Amino acid sequence: MQMVCIVCPNGCRLNVEQTEEGIVVSGQRCKRGEAFAIGELTDPKRSVTSSVRTTVKGYPVVSVKTDGEIPKSKIFELMDMLKNVTLHEPLPIGSVVIGNLFGTGVNVITTTQMEETDE
Ligand code: SF4
Repeated sequence: MQMVCIVCPNGCRLNVEQTEEGIVVSGQRCKRGEAFAIGELTDPKRSVTSSVRTTVKGYPVVSVKTDGEIPKSKIFELMDMLKNVTLHEPLPIGSVVIGNLFGTGVNVITTTQMEETDE
C-alpha cells in the first residue's frame, strides 16, 4: 500500500508492506515516516481543530484544538461533544475546554485570546 507521510511538509510517499517479518516501510526520508506508517496501520491518531460557541460579546465562536493526538476513531465523537460546548466567559488562549479526552491525557484548548469588552 502507498501513503503520504503527513508528519512534516516534505510529504514523503511511503510504500508500506505487511510481511511475515512485520511492517516494512520504504520511501521515507527520516525515521518518523516509518513510525507514522506503522501507527497508521495499527493505531491511527490525529490532532483536531474546530470551534465552539460562546455567549461572550464579540465572540460568537472561538477556535479550539487538541493539544495532542487522539485516536482517529474518536474524531466524530469529539465533534459531537464540541457541538454541546458553550463558553460563557472570556478565556485566555490555551484554556482547557475539555480535559483528558477519552482518557488519553489530551485536552481541547482554546486558540483564541478572548478579551473582555466593557460594553
Ligand atoms: S518521512 Fe520524515 S521527511 Fe518525510 S514527510 Fe515524514 S517526517 Fe517528513
